[in-house]
Amino acid sequence: MTNYFRSNIDLMPAYTPSEQIEPSAKIIKLNSNENPYPPSPTVMEVLRNFDGELLRRYPNAFAQEFRQAASQALGVPVDWIITGNGSDELLSVVMRVCAEPGRKVVYPVPTYVLYRTLTQMQAAESVEIPYSEDYRLPLEELIAVNGSVTFIASPNSPSGHMVPIDDLRKLATHLSGILAIDEAYVDFAEENALDLTQEFENVISLRTLSKGYSLAGVRLGFAITNPKLLSALYKVKDSYNVDAIACAVGVAAMNDQAYKNACIEKIKASRTKLAIELKQLGFRVWDSQTNFLLVQPREVNAEELFQRLKERKILVRYFQQPRLDDKLRITIGTNEQNQFLVQTLVSLIK
Ligand SMILES: *Cc1c(COP(=O)(O)O)cnc(C)c1O
Repeated sequence: MTNYFRSNIDLMPAYTPSEQIEPSAKIIKLNSNENPYPPSPTVMEVLRNFDGELLRRYPNAFAQEFRQAASQALGVPVDWIITGNGSDELLSVVMRVCAEPGRKVVYPVPTYVLYRTLTQMQAAESVEIPYSEDYRLPLEELIAVNGSVTFIASPNSPSGHMVPIDDLRKLATHLSGILAIDEAYVDFAEENALDLTQEFENVISLRTLSKGYSLAGVRLGFAITNPKLLSALYKVKDSYNVDAIACAVGVAAMNDQAYKNACIEKIKASRTKLAIELKQLGFRVWDSQTNFLLVQPREVNAEELFQRLKERKILVRYFQQPRLDDKLRITIGTNEQNQFLVQTLVSLIK
């Protein structure tokens, strides 16, 4: 049979997103790190009053109004911000600009699996450097590889840990390629890498409205870096990559920081509580600066526990991967959902 495909596409495995279910299904969904709280009431108002004329026309190619709102919220200039159809699109844009056969893309593992997929799409070489058991950044090794792009998710998934800003600063100083800091979970963390985008011309910070702002369904992300680097990213993004609805909804979400911060505080309090309860049940629980916990059951098999929970209508994330196949990643839900999880675990474990 004729082979229609580029060999790297032919050979690469497809990326498997986390399982999505019918919203009507009576399942407690703790597998995709979605925010358990609804979007801001002002977001819902924008949707209710949305003008059909804006649907008839093409949207602004640069999501200008959203960038203005993000600029205000973060205190960075508008021309330092690019928007994307989810931050996943922006990861892909960075790859299209920087990665090609013969170039290296490097990242510490375990981390977000999409980095590998995107590298394979570009037929570039991925270099995966293992984190130590206690998730210290393998600085020397990352610097030694000196990739065209170095990806660091901080806070990281699925470990939940935050990479110290000083380590990121050392990386930025020594790398001659791009340092892309994926800050999808930054809203749940104590620190962020924004300053580094101002200090170094090779640093880009990627953000999303999917987690902190309860907007995974609209697909809206943005990135912050200097105009010189942005000009290359703009060359390869789709012209109208952010639709009119996402842009308008994003403006409302950005302008209601108080609502987002209140949700984040609730989630952080629930995270502390759930971590204590899971430890009491005998789980090993990693410190988390995100809206999920990486946990290791001590006496039961993790995959089996994942299945038992699923039978009882609780969906968590299980990764069939080295270092992770004895652990579960559990998104922080509402207190009621977390309580139900803990009660169910008690009945399954004893
Ligand atoms: C959720 C997530 C993203 C993607 O966010 P979207 O904006 O929904 O595409 C990127 N990186 C990491 C590490 C994530 O967990």
